[in-house]
Parts: sequence; structure tokens; C-alpha cells
Amino acid sequence: MKPFTFSVPQNIIAGKGSLKQLPDIGKKLGTHAFIISGPHLNQMGVVKGCTDKLEAAGIQVDAFTQTEGNPSVETVDKAAAAFLASGADFIVALGGGSPMDVAKAVGVVAKYGGSITEYEGGGKVPGDIIPIIAIPTTAGTGSEVTAFSVITDHSRNYKLTVFSYKLIPAYAILDAELLTTAPASVAAACGIDALVHALEAYISTDASPFSDAMAEKALELIGGNIRKYVANRANTEAAEAMLIGSLFAGIAFSWARLGNVHAMSHPVSAYFNVPHGVANAILLPTIVEYNALADDGKYRKIYNYVSEIPAAEETFVPSMLTEKLKELNAMLGIPASLREAGVTEETFDAMAEDAMKSGNILVNPRASKKQDILNLYHKAF
Ligand SMILES: [Zn+2]
Repeated sequence: MKPFTFSVPQNIIAGKGSLKQLPDIGKKLGTHAFIISGPHLNQMGVVKGCTDKLEAAGIQVDAFTQTEGNPSVETVDKAAAAFLASGADFIVALGGGSPMDVAKAVGVVAKYGGSITEYEGGGKVPGDIIPIIAIPTTAGTGSEVTAFSVITDHSRNYKLTVFSYKLIPAYAILDAELLTTAPASVAAACGIDALVHALEAYISTDASPFSDAMAEKALELIGGNIRKYVANRANTEAAEAMLIGSLFAGIAFSWARLGNVHAMSHPVSAYFNVPHGVANAILLPTIVEYNALADDGKYRKIYNYVSEIPAAEETFVPSMLTEKLKELNAMLGIPASLREAGVTEETFDAMAEDAMKSGNILVNPRASKKQDILNLYHKAF
């Protein structure tokens, strides 16, 4: 067994209707909240719903609701300036991965100053950040429990990653009732992203028995519910299973890291603004096929979590998993290739260069050189 350490330094509150606990949790952190969210949730009245709950409990509220998909350094700067001007005590991150990534970055720069680009990489965050209550409205990035913030630096077409266990939000509230209004395309892309988190953490060379336990439960919950949830987001049982599955996947990959899918998807999003989940979903079958050479028996387990009908040991071959994932993508309406998603080939060399900078390459089960990454981009194209 590989030696491992593990801790989940966080309070997790889960259950339908658990959002009503927000004011009591807020009171533990201060008297002035700053909500970070996106324009869509603002228009839908979800931001107002949270504001009303907090204000009714005597907590002052300010908000920044301009986070975009693949959020930028500029957005972090604007949100941090607004946070500091408000004088708030804590942050409520409400939404999918983007508001949470921004909230974590604001939590760092509002406390320690400078630009988020100065904290790129691992271990650069000096200490505790502004406390965050994370409330996911998608299932999901798992960002409510992860130690990462991913921010796009447009000046160099690059998605930078800040990695520190200090980034983990103090509280996560998982209320499946917030997931029922997601469009099917968002539910599909976020659901596959969560599946990729679990899968990459599970086969990572940094996987431990603890992260495996988290990843296997995540695969079971996501594999068994993603079709039902995308088919009908109002199915709160399926939504809740997806939400808890993406939480477990987030914990798994905070410790086991990810792999080539995420290393390669970040440049796809940075250059072509393809949503994170869509970029991952398209790359997944190609990289699962590439990694088959390193399979030590986990592929059949993954297949059995994802497939409606399990495969017996004697009949299973790794290509069955690749085909199953292609079929799942097609069922959920994911584009079949990078070309279909609007990507063009002329930047592949620079993208492969950027992908090689990711720490995730180092923990991918099959070792990769830049030429391998380039070949994989062409294959997925
Ligand atoms: Zn992801």
C-alpha cells in the first residue's frame, strides 16, 4: 500500500432544504456577508433568496454577481475590490465552479494583497484565507471541497491553478433543491466533469486507499444517476446523488490529483473558451484508451459503475470502457470531437506545451511526453 495522509478540514451540511441553515452558519463567521455568484443565478432570483435569508437574520449583505465561465484574473480583481470596499467578514460562494474559483481567489488576494497570478502553483498561500461558505448549484465541480482555484489569465491564454489546503471553504451546504433548474446541457457537462474527477483520481499514481474509497463511492453515485438526472433535473433523488457524488469526487482529487484529461482540457478552455465539463468529456474516451496500457484492474470496476449491465471478469477488455464512455457522451448530447466543439488545430503545439506544465501529467497512470499529448489532441480532434 502507498503511504498516505488525509484530512477533510471542513464542515459539510447536506440534505434537501439545508439552505435554510445558511443564516445560522453565517452568524458563526460574522455579521456581514459578501455573495459571489453569476448573472444567471442573479436573474433567476437565487442570489436574492440567499440575501433575504441572511438579512432576515440580521446579517448585512453585499454581492458580486458577474462571474463568467472560465473566470478571469480581471474578474478576481474586480470582485476583490468590491469585497474590500464592502467591509464584509466572510464570503458566500453561490453557483457552479466559476463563482467558487473566484471566491477562493478573492479570499486570498483580499487578505494578502497583490494579484492572484502571484499565488500560482502549490503552497504559495501564506495562511488562512477569508472564510467561505460554498453552496453548489451544479453537480458538479466539487469545488466546494477542493483545495484548488483555477483562473484564466487572458494575457497568456493560460488557466492558472492555485493549490493550497487553505483554499478549502470553511462550510459547504449541499441542497439538491438548488439543482433542479439547471439546463440539461449544463447538467450533462457538469455531471461528466464530476465523473472525470472520480475516474482520474481513482487511476492516479497518487491514489491511496482513502482517496479510492471516495472515488469508488463517487463513481457509483454518478454512474448510477447521471442519465436520470440529465433526463429530468427535477428528480431530486438523482440530483442529490449527483451532488454527493461530486462532493466525494472533489475530496478524492484534492488528495490524489487528476490526470491527462484535466491537464489537456485547461488549454482547450483557455484558447477556445469551451466549457470545462465539455472539454473534459470530449477528451475522456481518447485518454482512457491511451491509459489502458497501465490498467491494473480498475477499468473493469469503473465500467461496472458506469454501465447499466456489469461485465464479468472473463469477458472484460479495456476497450469496453472507452466505448461505454463514448456512448454515454452521445446519450448526454456532448460533442464527439474537439472539432465539433469549435477547436482548431493550429494552436495544438502551444496547448501541448501548456498541458505539460500541469502537475496532473505527473500523476497520470501512463507516462506522457509532449509528443504524446500532441498526438492525443489530434486524436480527439
Ligand atoms: Zn474538472
